[in-house]
Amino acid sequence: MKVLKFGGTSVGSAQRIKNVANLVCDKSQKLVVLSAMSGTTNCLVEISNYLYKRNLDGANETINTLEKKYDGVIAELYADEKYRKQAADVLKERFDFIRSMTQSIFTSFEEKAILAQGELMSTNMFHIYLQEQGVDSFLIPALDFMKIDKNNEPDSAFIKENINEILKKESGHEIYITQGFICRNAYGEIDNLQRGGSDYTASLVGAAIGAEEIQIWTDIDGMHNNDPRVVENTKPVANLHFEEAAELAYFGAKILHPTCILPAKLANIPVLLLNTMEPTAKGTTISNVQKPGKIEAVAAKDNITAIKIKSGRMLLAYGFLRKVFEIFEHYKTSIDMITTSEVGVSLTVDNTKNLPEITEELKKFGTVTVEEGMVIICVVGDLNAQNVGFQAKIVNALSEIPVRMISYGGSNYNVSFLVKAEDKNRALQALSDHLFN
Ligand code: ASP
Ligand code: MG
Repeated sequence: MKVLKFGGTSVGSAQRIKNVANLVCDKSQKLVVLSAMSGTTNCLVEISNYLYKRNLDGANETINTLEKKYDGVIAELYADEKYRKQAADVLKERFDFIRSMTQSIFTSFEEKAILAQGELMSTNMFHIYLQEQGVDSFLIPALDFMKIDKNNEPDSAFIKENINEILKKESGHEIYITQGFICRNAYGEIDNLQRGGSDYTASLVGAAIGAEEIQIWTDIDGMHNNDPRVVENTKPVANLHFEEAAELAYFGAKILHPTCILPAKLANIPVLLLNTMEPTAKGTTISNVQKPGKIEAVAAKDNITAIKIKSGRMLLAYGFLRKVFEIFEHYKTSIDMITTSEVGVSLTVDNTKNLPEITEELKKFGTVTVEEGMVIICVVGDLNAQNVGFQAKIVNALSEIPVRMISYGGSNYNVSFLVKAEDKNRALQALSDHLFN
């Protein structure tokens, strides 16, 4: 069975929902994971923020606006009054629930329950639409099988056991539908896999059922070889190794959530990135197979801060790096890039919440310099050290750009550079010119 995930824009209007139905109904069995309609989760976050502040007028106004939008969608989506009424009843129940949250105290527990409503609505509407079209679809509530543990990590054993049990009991349907993003936590409460988490759901479900393929449908034709917002004539990359895709997803390519890679990689299930606007385009296939000797793509991650610690005490000392890393660990701040010399270490972070405290503590070890407004440029491909010359080629492309840090050797799949934000566009263009054109 294949798993197909459709993101918010892919189900963003009545017409788009119909398009998705056309795409999935080809008589072969599949499991469809849906996001909330685009804009909905943001709207639910907004409602929650009003409720935290006890601004009931703000909350009610936003709820009313959202409800109107859904009224419009179901008016257009269903041809038959019977199905429209069914969808209207489901939506009424969901909006009654959201409104009930304005009556009581509001904590993160209620917030998570509110955030779950978008996916509950989109999947029910889709299921009812397929019923109207005479398709044999079955709705599997994600809250019955998708679970995270006490560390907020997916409980893979639970997920596997429960979804397979449901599929066995309800075997023989053409289309199974479930919600992306939402889950239960270790205490049985409604929770979620963090914003953008529907991709993660698709990957976890795919791994759990041993899917032959996981398709992630968005509105771009795959992962591009450079940032299309910055560089002209970028092209979709046909094939990527999971490691390459992970670097790209983490370092800026917005199309795929980085968490989605690991479950699919471990289960060795290919992930296809496909475009609902252009369903016949090949998109990008991510798998454990790599194209030898090829530099595939470039991506950039903004809002990076570089920290340099220079210390005579680092010379010939051991344990220095451990002490530095412990400070970052203590403040739960992850490090992206790191380079060292005999007397100093430079590293980068993107979370600056505890930067003042971190800087203060680092000063115990030497002179600390902080530079904000930096960008990591990541070049991805088969960068095995045996492929002589690729480092020179990449560095050469940046011959006109002031480069603050260079990192290679952490993996065979990427080289990263740190540049100033103002040099980002020039750097991306130069890399495209030298590597792909
Ligand atoms: N609806 C959720 C969000 O907007 C999850 C997702 O779309 O992947 O973050
Ligand atoms: Mg998404």
